[in-house]
Amino acid sequence: MVGAGVGGLGSALALARAGHRVTLVERDQVSMPATPHAAFDEWRRRGAPQTRHSHAFLARLRNTLRDRNPGVLTALLEAGATEIDFLHHPPPGLDPLEPEPADADLVGLACRRTTFEWVLRRSALAVPAVTLLPGSVEGLVATTGPGGIPQVTGVGLAGGRVLPADVVVDAGGRRSPLPAWLETLGTATVPESVEDTGIVYSSRFYRMLAEGDDPAEHGLVVGDLGYLKYAVFPGDNGTLSITYGVHADDREMRRVLHPGPFTEVAANIPALRRWVEPGRCQAISDVEVMAGLVNRLRHFVVAGLPVATGIYAVGDSSVCTNPVYGRGCALALVHAELLADTLAATGDDPVQAAVAFAEATRIEIEPWYGAAVAQDRHDRAAVHDDDDCGGVDMGSLMRHGLLPAARHDPAVFRAFMRTFNLLDAPDAMMRDPKVVLAVMAAWQDRASRRPLPRLGPDRAELLHRLAGAA
Ligand SMILES: Cc1cc2nc3c(=O)[nH]c(=O)nc-3n(C[C@H](O)[C@H](O)[C@H](O)COP(=O)(O)OP(=O)(O)OC[C@H]3O[C@@H](n4cnc5c(N)ncnc54)[C@H](O)[C@@H]3O)c2cc1C
Repeated sequence: MVGAGVGGLGSALALARAGHRVTLVERDQVSMPATPHAAFDEWRRRGAPQTRHSHAFLARLRNTLRDRNPGVLTALLEAGATEIDFLHHPPPGLDPLEPEPADADLVGLACRRTTFEWVLRRSALAVPAVTLLPGSVEGLVATTGPGGIPQVTGVGLAGGRVLPADVVVDAGGRRSPLPAWLETLGTATVPESVEDTGIVYSSRFYRMLAEGDDPAEHGLVVGDLGYLKYAVFPGDNGTLSITYGVHADDREMRRVLHPGPFTEVAANIPALRRWVEPGRCQAISDVEVMAGLVNRLRHFVVAGLPVATGIYAVGDSSVCTNPVYGRGCALALVHAELLADTLAATGDDPVQAAVAFAEATRIEIEPWYGAAVAQDRHDRAAVHDDDDCGGVDMGSLMRHGLLPAARHDPAVFRAFMRTFNLLDAPDAMMRDPKVVLAVMAAWQDRASRRPLPRLGPDRAELLHRLAGAA
């Protein structure tokens, strides 16, 4: 396993459960701090810098653990993670929802990413068949397999050591150079679709000073001012984080991603103000910033044949999506389980296994790449939307139909939450006649709807206030 991030650890757990012996090779620090707080303070994760950013752990992830690794879910709760019921706080225009049996699935997890990974790593290392080896994978080793297709037989480590393996899994994350490694084996080019998310993501973590203050009790705090997206993430053990996403080409707004302006922005947004009031929280991190974020999809089977056998890409190395949607860890864990299921079903035939895994990826994971790219495009279009209520395009339907309908129609709200949490396919809502009717009705009403209260200052106003506060 190349990498012991979420996809690597998830794959290790799934494959060990299926009877494989797994060696995780990880080039970042592999120490095991004693507590979640120590993991947050001590871990330096250059290979996965997003570890120090806010993470939402969606219901699909929590359910995958519940169904496949219940011990990990229990350990997370014991380590201070909490379960978040996504229907518990309906929008202000909705009465409490009549419970339905499937609602038990609409529960996610609140914790810091470091806590999540700390528990996942402890759980994987408690399995006798799993070993963690510090080191950096520098490339693949292969022989020529049936049909002339390169068959990967191991990895080359920094320092020249070769680690042989029946199967190599690349879980090296969004920066994985797997296509280049494959090409040095003489494989066909790995087709790749890449689309820039156009955002810069920033996060800051806080420890709550007041006893009993729980951000989860305030419902989902997520907003979009057009020029800045924001969210509050409840953490574990009395922590929370605030995150902003700004347009990468908005140089002035990028300047707010420093401690002073970061806090000042929060003080100017009503939904965030509470958490930066004096005496309520203490910052426990710098303002972390990540740019260069892309949506990316790679194909390892071309014209029905794998570019190589014995090698599988799991998680971000295969499909990575805009972090704003909070899907990556859920997708990585689902992908890990798909790999274990595929290998169990296809036995010793490496070509069949590669083709079957590509097909499982196409069905279960790829649609979320398409959804992220489409949503990003709608978002970019919305910046120039003058709300003139022109023709029906998907972006307009989302903004003026789906979102308002979700605020007052329980069926639409539930359907929206199920898709948001990856429990239903991205297009499921628009295949449900009840939802489509409600969305179209809301869209028809768009001209007569009263505008929503402002979530915060407009861009010029905010920049003016920041200049005044400087
Ligand atoms: C800013 C940001 C915020 C995010 N927020 C969310 C969120 O809210 N919810 C969510 O679900 N997802 C979120 N994600 C996505 C999520 O973090 C990733 O999808 C997830 O970490 C993917 O897991 P992975 O195992 O593929 O990669 P990673 O977790 O990145 O792990 C890759 C690992 O491989 C190691 N590695 C790489 N190359 C080598 C090598 N050659 N040799 C040895 N080791 C190597 C790295 O050191 C690293 O530990 C976010 C991402 C970003 C960038």
